[in-house]
Amino acid sequence: MYDPKSLKADEFIDHNEVLTTLEWADLHKNNRAMIDACLAKARERKGLSHREAAVLLDCALEDKNEEIFELARQIKLDFYGNRIVMFAPLYLSNHCINGCVYCPYHRKNKHITRKKLTQEEIAREVAALQDMGHKRLAIESGEHPKMNPLEYILESIQTIYSIKHKSGDIRRVNVNIAGTTVEAYRRLRDAGIGTYILFQETYHKNSYGKLHPTGPKHDYAWHTEAMDRAMEGGIDDVGLGVLFGLELYRYEFSALMMHAEHLEAVHGVGPHTISLPRIRRADDIDPDVFDNGIDDDTFAKIVAVTRLATPYTGIIISTRESRATRERVLKLGVSQISGGSRTSVGGYYEPEPEDEDSTQFEVSDNRSLDEVVNWLMELGYIPSFCTACYREGRTGDRFMSLCKSQQIQNCCHPNALITLKEYLEDYAGPRTRTLGDRLIASELGNIPKDKVRHLVGGWLHDISNGARDFRI
Ligand code: SF4
Ligand code: SF4
Repeated sequence: MYDPKSLKADEFIDHNEVLTTLEWADLHKNNRAMIDACLAKARERKGLSHREAAVLLDCALEDKNEEIFELARQIKLDFYGNRIVMFAPLYLSNHCINGCVYCPYHRKNKHITRKKLTQEEIAREVAALQDMGHKRLAIESGEHPKMNPLEYILESIQTIYSIKHKSGDIRRVNVNIAGTTVEAYRRLRDAGIGTYILFQETYHKNSYGKLHPTGPKHDYAWHTEAMDRAMEGGIDDVGLGVLFGLELYRYEFSALMMHAEHLEAVHGVGPHTISLPRIRRADDIDPDVFDNGIDDDTFAKIVAVTRLATPYTGIIISTRESRATRERVLKLGVSQISGGSRTSVGGYYEPEPEDEDSTQFEVSDNRSLDEVVNWLMELGYIPSFCTACYREGRTGDRFMSLCKSQQIQNCCHPNALITLKEYLEDYAGPRTRTLGDRLIASELGNIPKDKVRHLVGGWLHDISNGARDFRI
């Protein structure tokens, strides 16, 4: 029986409720009155229920779809302005005891080289990431209690925060590791992690069982209920995601929305981020085997409706997506992207061909961080290296209440300019620097409050003179 407040996976992601939602959406996809009502609700910036979001996703009326895209663009602008937050993944270990059939790190794959970074190697990777200009990382590791125990993850986080290479520092470490116990989440919180990210992969329980035939991840309930344990362990910010292509996208999307509703219903705070990856080619993995792949138009619609349904949640896309796709969906609601990513273990210090032998997935966008930063600015975006909220304790419900009152706007824009200025001073190529300084000069005038504008103007000047790490 569907119950968003239940702590049981089968009840907050109730299979029958998903199926009923899909039937309901199919029934109403051409119902103008219904679609208008959903759009009117989305216009209030209060989000949508999973059923409403499903109707909009299915909507087949061309003019209404245009309205959906237009509203997504507007909500994106209202909440996130023209800022895009930058991050990079850092792979610690590809040892894994799970049998995920879509991932080359699965236990039975004998033709990849297994690697686990030592603390010295992590320090080298972090220095290489700092030399690119990154401030925000997402660490990734396979699940292997002997090779990658919690102590290893905790020590690695400590190492990452401790490295101060030249002008660099990593100011926020997000963590993407297997579902674990409340006690382990508490220790991760105490280690100062930012967001805890765990992709559901698929919400369809039967498919989930087949796609995860062996290992602890086989346990659907353990995996699906992980976010509740993380929040019970004191982690305020959690990041959801599904891997589109494994199951039918309509099912995944509705269930993802139900998961977001569940977190809001139980913990009073929805997901901090939603990641929208699509399956990619990798060693031992042929995406053609998964016949549920989604085309670019459907992907754009998913991004747009996610923006309408969860206006306060950051939407993340990675370098799995091509430059052209990224350009398209940035407008529709994406707020965070990775840049200059290496998806192999140790790939930043010793760049190896990102071939199918070593990477978790094939990267579509191979540009350097500087190229991505330059490209964003040419498109009119402000690349932001901001990590201020987490460091000021604005997490969980404190972050959400600020966000809902749109006060976050008064922080994000100035912080984006400050951190971009640091990037320009320390890491940018000459072209990027010229473009960036011009952008900052024109954007400074867009800070509405005189006091904040003057403060930021002074800080920008100080940054030119070598000072660092200002924030609002
Ligand atoms: Fe292991 Fe994660 Fe890959 Fe599954 S998806 S095989 S858990 S690394
Ligand atoms: Fe993110 Fe907070 Fe920085 Fe805005 S001020 S970009 S919400 S960390």
